[in-house]
Amino acid sequence: MAAGRDIDDLPKNEANYTALTPMWFLERAATVHPTRTSVVHGSLRYTWLDTYRRCRRLASALSSRSIGLGSTVAVIAPNVPAIYETHFGVPMAGAVVNCVNIRLNAQTIGFLLGHSSSVVVIVDQEFFTLAEEALKILAEKSKGHYKPPLLIVIGDESCDPKTLEYALSRGAIEYEKFLESGDPEFAWKPPEDEWQSITLGYTSGTTASPKGVVLSHRGAYLMSLSAALVWGMNEAAIYLWTLPMFHCNGWCYTWALAAICGTSICLRQVTAKGVYSAIAKYGVTHFCAAPVVLNTIVNAPPEEAILPLPHVVHVMTAGAAPPPSVLFAMNERGFKVTHTYGLSETYGPSVICAWKPEWDSLPPETQARLNARQGVRYVALEGLDVINSRTMQPIPADGMTVGEIMMRGNAVMKGYLKNPKANEETFANGWFHTGDLAVKHPDGYIEIKDRSKDIIISGGENISSVEVENTMYLHPAILEVSVVARPDERWGESPCAFVTLKPNVDKSNEQNLAEDIMKFCRSKMPAYWVPKSIVFGPLPKTATGKIQKHLLRAKAKEMWPL
Ligand code: ADP
Repeated sequence: MAAGRDIDDLPKNEANYTALTPMWFLERAATVHPTRTSVVHGSLRYTWLDTYRRCRRLASALSSRSIGLGSTVAVIAPNVPAIYETHFGVPMAGAVVNCVNIRLNAQTIGFLLGHSSSVVVIVDQEFFTLAEEALKILAEKSKGHYKPPLLIVIGDESCDPKTLEYALSRGAIEYEKFLESGDPEFAWKPPEDEWQSITLGYTSGTTASPKGVVLSHRGAYLMSLSAALVWGMNEAAIYLWTLPMFHCNGWCYTWALAAICGTSICLRQVTAKGVYSAIAKYGVTHFCAAPVVLNTIVNAPPEEAILPLPHVVHVMTAGAAPPPSVLFAMNERGFKVTHTYGLSETYGPSVICAWKPEWDSLPPETQARLNARQGVRYVALEGLDVINSRTMQPIPADGMTVGEIMMRGNAVMKGYLKNPKANEETFANGWFHTGDLAVKHPDGYIEIKDRSKDIIISGGENISSVEVENTMYLHPAILEVSVVARPDERWGESPCAFVTLKPNVDKSNEQNLAEDIMKFCRSKMPAYWVPKSIVFGPLPKTATGKIQKHLLRAKAKEMWPL
């Protein structure tokens, strides 16, 4: 008999099987820390027991209206306590929560509400007319097939009371009234199957039309714990909501904060002043933000920046490549930046530039360069590699050969809603294809060179727009820069830079400024990388502050038609 057989013969302990769901985190937080502050917003302050009871009320009120398994509840709200609560209350009723990006137009929101078949829309008072307009468009398009959803409006003391009055006059139920109709002791049940869907979230459509990403209870559980772990968070964490919760469920920190029993500080609008004041007022220890937000923080006028910081503030950045110069400047101001990478399809960040103690003694510029790499996998992600998408072979770890980042494992979504073609393409050969192009360094850390759609091909040579941008960020007059391909008669494409200047820069002679920037570029990069044209002005961005390169590319095509 083979050794160890008895051990293997033990059956699965089915009686102890419990589906993994982050709902358990909330139940535990309310039991262990009932009086500890869970969420703060203006004069509102809830404890973990309050939050648990409010979420159970929400689940109960939904259930009593037959909203549960198979239903989708849409939420259109900035970072206020209600959107936090929907991350628990909706799944506790068995339904799926679909948080919608508030910066989308009525047309797109109408499409998302129809595509997701949302039966309830929970909307912040400030966005009520937007939701109304979206539903009107949807009703017209669906020719009466879309049953109007139950409309619930979230009131907020910091908004104009007229917008709430208007919503109520249109038949919406006030969120607080809706909660009152529910039972605070509601006996919610965990899902029978941990693969049950928990959220639906539409990609921000940076490169294509939005796709509905479906995530599971199991994935949300594992990735929330990973999110807490990468920062080593505990109940002392005071987390500032700068990142919208509607973006990938706030990179799983919605549920992670319940797991560690930390405190959420809600911020309706993100400004550098708001961030610095919250750090001083509430003792914020952690926040997440896209690199453009970091850029605003480092360029804040001295009267808005409260420096030196009263304590170390941990910042997680993802969503786009952070220029090393911005990481350096954040570090100089006392922020400790963790760089992560991921997609809506991977529960938000799932790759981290894990800091090594041996980097502590390196010069700050080298540290920033190392930290600008995307890194290695989160604990809950089993498969991460850079692969030649033609041969499906991993590329060598030489820091030079470019391939596509692919992932597989628990951090990968269930799939796109009602989109078999996209599912087939995205999961081809058993890997999730990210569409991001990267190299792998000898230490195993990956570094993104570009999105496959953003790479510039000039005279047959690939130019990484990220590398050109990183160098341009070193120019003292540049606040923001985005480099895209513009049509070029001779080379097919050539780089073109869209630039926003720092507020204190004399903008009277753009011609001179452009020449100075080009001269700077020529001294620091190969000639064929140097932008052929520089266009000054504000850059179009998504709700998470991501620069919309496809719009800039379209603009460049218009400006230089072939
Ligand atoms: P969308 O695809 O609509 O922009 P996502 O928010 O899912 O929506 O964006 C994921 C993409 O963002 C990635 O595929 C990658 O191109 C980019 N990204 C995210 N984090 C980073 C990072 N740390 N460095 C470089 N690019 C990043």
